[in-house]
Amino acid sequence: MSSKTKYIFVTGGVTSSLGKGIISASLAKLLQARGFSVTIQKLDPYINVDPGTLNPYEHGECYVTDDGAETDLDLGHYERFLNVATSQDNNVTTGRIYQSVINRERRGDYLGKTVQVIPHITNEIKEHVLELGKDDTYDVVITEIGGTVGDIESLPFIESIRQLKWDLGEKVLFIHLTLIPYLSTSGELKTKPTQHSVKTLLEYGIQPDILVCRTEHHLADDLRKKIALFCNVEQKCVIESIDAKSIYEVPLLMQQEKLDVVVCEKLKLEGNENYELKKWNKFLKNLFEPKKTIDIALIGKYVELKDSYISIAESLIHAGAKNKTKVNINWIHSSKLEDEDIHQLLSKMNGIIVAPGFGSRAVEGKINAVKYARENNIPFLGICLGMQCAVVEFARNVIGLDGAHSTEIDPDSNHPVISMMEEQKKLKNLGGTMRLGAYDCHVKENSLLHDVYEKDIISERHRHRFEFNNVYIDDFEKHGIVFSGKNIKNNLMETIEYSQHPWFVGVQYHPEYKSTVVNPHPLFINFVKAGLKHHDKTLAIPASINS
Ligand code: GLN
Repeated sequence: MSSKTKYIFVTGGVTSSLGKGIISASLAKLLQARGFSVTIQKLDPYINVDPGTLNPYEHGECYVTDDGAETDLDLGHYERFLNVATSQDNNVTTGRIYQSVINRERRGDYLGKTVQVIPHITNEIKEHVLELGKDDTYDVVITEIGGTVGDIESLPFIESIRQLKWDLGEKVLFIHLTLIPYLSTSGELKTKPTQHSVKTLLEYGIQPDILVCRTEHHLADDLRKKIALFCNVEQKCVIESIDAKSIYEVPLLMQQEKLDVVVCEKLKLEGNENYELKKWNKFLKNLFEPKKTIDIALIGKYVELKDSYISIAESLIHAGAKNKTKVNINWIHSSKLEDEDIHQLLSKMNGIIVAPGFGSRAVEGKINAVKYARENNIPFLGICLGMQCAVVEFARNVIGLDGAHSTEIDPDSNHPVISMMEEQKKLKNLGGTMRLGAYDCHVKENSLLHDVYEKDIISERHRHRFEFNNVYIDDFEKHGIVFSGKNIKNNLMETIEYSQHPWFVGVQYHPEYKSTVVNPHPLFINFVKAGLKHHDKTLAIPASINS
């Protein structure tokens, strides 16, 4: 067990979706700025072993780490805020805990004992938390408990963190995120739900040290006093978290509320108190004072739930700020592009992204979007399934391979331009078996991709089973497609670009998983730049021609 590492546990009360992930990431950012090494972990109470098998409608996007873990989207926030990679250890579900305990039981590790929630499940949970504190890699481990206090599902996690406080004493801190609702009829902020939620925590043996209170209106001193009195916390530990313009503003709001000051005081952490968030502030300035606005279409089949594509949306925000440009995302359901006026939907766009995805629903709409982008010289970025759609479109409409398709969608296609990777064919289980995580990709010299990355070898993260079918390489090259990124080891075509188009790129990998606030992804920066060029060019055309 580490002697140095401190542990902060973040629980949530009153309702879900209060933004524990953002608060955790914001606090981590401030601690990082003080000079501490910090990591954030998410404990998820559901029984799926990981979110990889979940439909995005359930919990939004599945985020993928370098080491190939399929994780909760909050890990994306952690990486975007901290600019530090996470791993398999940063997201643990109830399913994974039980799977591991049951495997141990089958191996006979428990020596004939009755296997129970306490101590076996709780010990397993504790081990997963302490794993991150091993070897003193981190000064601080922040662990966010998914769900809301009082849920049956999260009880073993709550009990485990209670025990960790018992085990580690002053090295442990509890932060409870709660809601102070505003009743517009009486014009009042109400503290009762917070009191109740703290009471529930107390029943489980946990006294929160700090309350972070989500609110639409500022908390007056007397209200803070009241919360402090009823919830047994010091008044300076009642932290206001007012609705922000952008999630990226939250670290500054937390700094103003001195969240990091009380955390350091309580955990006896001595770091640089006079830190400045220079890069962060510069990013915010660019974000809030853009010089231009461009319109980007984001095409997918889960657009009703924006969390399904959260990393793409955030990457566009980072890249937009870098270009001092507001990127207006137009979320378009791909089914609309099958039966509505595509010109009306896409003609005003300065860029088109076809998003990742699975299965056949509304895929023809995505293929139509690629065609529109290609024929109208609109900057195009196809990500994973988006690239595969671009390959299918090009095969059908430029090369003339009638009926070309991905075998995921049409297993009997006479031109299977996208087909299942050999290693995938023998697999039976769907969970955790895709091509996952970071792989090196060789970038062709004198390609658009090389201009974008300015590197010969890049590393990007993957999550797919299907791949470009190399039988068709010649056909594509003859018609102007450049395979600018390749996995040399397995001879996989990782990217395509079209030489007869201003900016047309398809990538089999997911660049969106690696864009962070201080390190926006070059592919998105360049895509936004191409969008700006398109925007300026369209403006230059007289209105009569333009219409
Ligand atoms: N369904 C495609 C595949 O499995 C694309 C996956 C994705 O877009 N993440 O290859």
